[in-house]
Amino acid sequence: MATSILSDANRRLERALKYVSISDDASERLRYPKASLTVSIPVRMDDGTLKVFQGYRVRYDDTRGPTKGGIRFHPDVTLDEVQSLAFWMTFKCAALNLPLGGAKGGVTVNPKELSKFELERLSRGYIDAIANFIGPDVDVPAPDVYTNPMIMGWMMDQYSIICRKLSPAVITGKPLSMGGSQGRDTATGTGAFYVLQALMGRFNKAPHQTTVAVQGFGNAGSVIARLLFDAGYQVVAVSDSQGGIYAAQGLDIPSIQQFKASTRSLKAVYCEGTVCNVINDHTDITNEELLSLDVDILVPAALENQITATNADTIRARYIFEVANGPITSEADDILNAKGIYIFPDILVNAGGVTVSYFEWVQNRSGLYWSLEDVNARLKTMIVTEAERIWAIAQELAIPPRTAAYVHALERLGDALNDKGTRDYYVSGI
Ligand code: GLU
Repeated sequence: MATSILSDANRRLERALKYVSISDDASERLRYPKASLTVSIPVRMDDGTLKVFQGYRVRYDDTRGPTKGGIRFHPDVTLDEVQSLAFWMTFKCAALNLPLGGAKGGVTVNPKELSKFELERLSRGYIDAIANFIGPDVDVPAPDVYTNPMIMGWMMDQYSIICRKLSPAVITGKPLSMGGSQGRDTATGTGAFYVLQALMGRFNKAPHQTTVAVQGFGNAGSVIARLLFDAGYQVVAVSDSQGGIYAAQGLDIPSIQQFKASTRSLKAVYCEGTVCNVINDHTDITNEELLSLDVDILVPAALENQITATNADTIRARYIFEVANGPITSEADDILNAKGIYIFPDILVNAGGVTVSYFEWVQNRSGLYWSLEDVNARLKTMIVTEAERIWAIAQELAIPPRTAAYVHALERLGDALNDKGTRDYYVSGI
């Protein structure tokens, strides 16, 4: 890739800056990550050898509060990627009005190739390496791609061992038994569903007349697919990293979830034996084919850079809800905008995860725990309120929803940065 992901992410910032009057000091500050840490993590493998993994933690901006963002275990993790993800977290937290800044972490590893023992040693080793960089009032990690509640539990435990006191608020997305929050595991998909329902209400299209394709059937993709199915939408295609399935009349999402849970792969639902009878007639498709299906709504819920200048022209969906972080490049944005496609951006659509992480952090610090109904009701109120504000900004300024989301976040970030003093403040007093 010619340009870095961070410089591509920064293009969104430059675009939005045209519509907000924030100080030059504030915009200059937001162009650079506050601190980036690169670590080497030595791990004793099961066969006795020592392997050293590369890890990163980036705190992008903490003007609005302690930094927040997940940890990803993936073979493609680079410092550039982690910096961009930390940038997005900064804007996501501000868009949702959470009193938090943005951060991200990652380890370059394919966790599927590790044993459970190795995975635990790597998770604890990563915390040993970054312990001075994080903390309940400093930087609070969480799950991201290929990390889960169990890993968060090991990490919280390791941090508590280092500090010699129990510190549940150092990390979110923990198992319920270790101070996790109700609803955190389903929060990203649930929040995305609330946003989709609220915004699609503006387009007068009944759910049963609306077709949807979901790319990615992990923690976020499978949850939104299920909620859409239950609400009567026609989910006609889903996929995972192995490939996808399509059925014009709609897929039976609960059965697919069940098969995926028992086999950990959508391959198991491809037409084989009795499964075919449960999953109605369908065709196998590739991820690329799924993206270009003629559907009303496309939900990219896998990884970044799925829709680029190369394939943007093939996209036929009318509305895109970005459940993954950064699935569309800024060049592709231009092509899709010119085609009149509405793109509802990641920093709004997938913000349910960090919002319930914030709830978890609040619960850990107060010691009072909320019910699932309470968590979901608060999530719905917060995310729908911000979705409606962003939509109103988009209408008012006649700009795409993504730029509107950045404008909305920038106003809050600008206020916080300005309150620390700008050039105008210091010079006018002299
Ligand atoms: N990794 C998630 C995200 O990208 C959640 C972050 C968090 O809960 O802090 O938004």
